[in-house]
Amino acid sequence: MTKDYLIERNGKKYEVVIGLEVHAQVLSESKLFSTSPTKFGSEPNTQVSLVDAAFPGMLPVINEFCIKQAIKTGIGLNAKINNKSIFDRKNYFYADLPQGYQISQYKDPIVGEGNVVVDLASGSKIIGIERLHLEQDAGKSIHDIDPKNTLVDLNRSGVALMEIVSKPDLRSPEEVNFYIKKLRSIMRYLGTCDGNMQEGSLRADVNVSVRKQGDDKYGTRCEIKNVNSIKFMQMAIEYEANRQVDILEEGGKIDQETRLFDTKKNVTRSMRSKEDAHDYRYFPDPDLLPLEFSDEYVENIKKEIPELPDQKKSRFIEKFNLSPYEANILVSDLDISKYFEAVIENSDVKLSSNWITGELFALLNEKNLEITESPISAKNLSKLINLIKDGTISGKIAKTVFEMMAEGDKNPIEIVKEKGLKQQSDPKELEKLIEKVINDNQDTVKEYKSGKEKLFGFFVGQAMKVSGGKANPQLVNEILKKKLK
Ligand code: ADP
Ligand code: MG
Repeated sequence: MTKDYLIERNGKKYEVVIGLEVHAQVLSESKLFSTSPTKFGSEPNTQVSLVDAAFPGMLPVINEFCIKQAIKTGIGLNAKINNKSIFDRKNYFYADLPQGYQISQYKDPIVGEGNVVVDLASGSKIIGIERLHLEQDAGKSIHDIDPKNTLVDLNRSGVALMEIVSKPDLRSPEEVNFYIKKLRSIMRYLGTCDGNMQEGSLRADVNVSVRKQGDDKYGTRCEIKNVNSIKFMQMAIEYEANRQVDILEEGGKIDQETRLFDTKKNVTRSMRSKEDAHDYRYFPDPDLLPLEFSDEYVENIKKEIPELPDQKKSRFIEKFNLSPYEANILVSDLDISKYFEAVIENSDVKLSSNWITGELFALLNEKNLEITESPISAKNLSKLINLIKDGTISGKIAKTVFEMMAEGDKNPIEIVKEKGLKQQSDPKELEKLIEKVINDNQDTVKEYKSGKEKLFGFFVGQAMKVSGGKANPQLVNEILKKKLK
């Protein structure tokens, strides 16, 4: 298990309890109840229909594709899919919410309890899912364009969101990090959310409470609203948990409230005391019938579900003998797993895994590129790996070739030919070369023979150097051993 994340104060240890309400934007061309497009980054207020702007008398029409996306996500979360669910109005006033209410789901969500396996450095942990419901996004209030006025962009108004509510099963910022990453990975595999946090496609309300280690009752929670990066979630939890411990240690009690994370000062600030469900006067939206579908409908969607990260991981471990650690790295991102599978189609699995997670990741990291932008194609990396495997080039030369490949996806076979980098594996030629090394270093040979066996490495080094790094190191070793006897 993970090393416990505990906060120590005055000799007492506190445990941190976290539950997340993740808002994941449904990957869909159009909005939940209108046909307006959902494209990110368009000119403000260019993707707003009369429904999204809440003109009087406009009626919402449900977008079946978004329903399918939510069902798919529910299946990916190993969750119960509810054949009957209800859309409710959640009433509140805000300038960027023209309807005066948000259409959401309250008591009867489309997806019920499920779970997610989270891969931590120390092993896996199962995090419970409470429910997943569909709701509309609000518009966006913009405070930093005009010094006196707030501007409103309704492009996002009505875009479909899935709110994925976890049980309070998370215990540390690290677990939150891996939980979000796993959720994102599952949804990307499913194609139900692009998980792009910079664009706001994935954000979360973070609920935090603390309790003395060993207590079985949860403490009072505070909810930090709308945090849009994993880093900020972790910082907010850290700050908030410590704030609560300080209050308890001073004999105070925690008020259940809604807070905001100030990303400039790294503190959470009170926004309002916690609103309860009755404050929103939820009631079933009279414009929408209950959402109903058959078991068969769900069964048909199940047939479209691709292999998901957990299954792919098991397959990589069983079929290719990869370690769980390697398998995790290779499946966590769908595009990485695709790249890997393309390389191993014609190449050794172990070498491929090493080269991808080693050299290739380092290169991508250095150039700040995604795997889909890799300067080296899977096809050419596969060729390079085959050149190593069949002994045409050594691992060391391969690194040089790799660097040259990176300048515009060059074919490694041609690079090896052009630059004459083929490994020298002809025993007769190597013998000649080694004899020269021995002749040129008679003094060292004497030392070696008098017992300084460590000098063996020196001869290997010389032979490699004379060959311009091209000598087959294994053969060099063998021949040197014979000659120096
Ligand atoms: P609300 O909309 O009122 O915030 P939800 O049920 O949507 O209620 O979400 C509550 C979230 O708070 C869930 O993610 C849940 O796991 C989490 N939670 C509940 N109790 C605690 C607690 N004591 N400490 C931390 N998180 C909690
Ligand atoms: Mg909440």
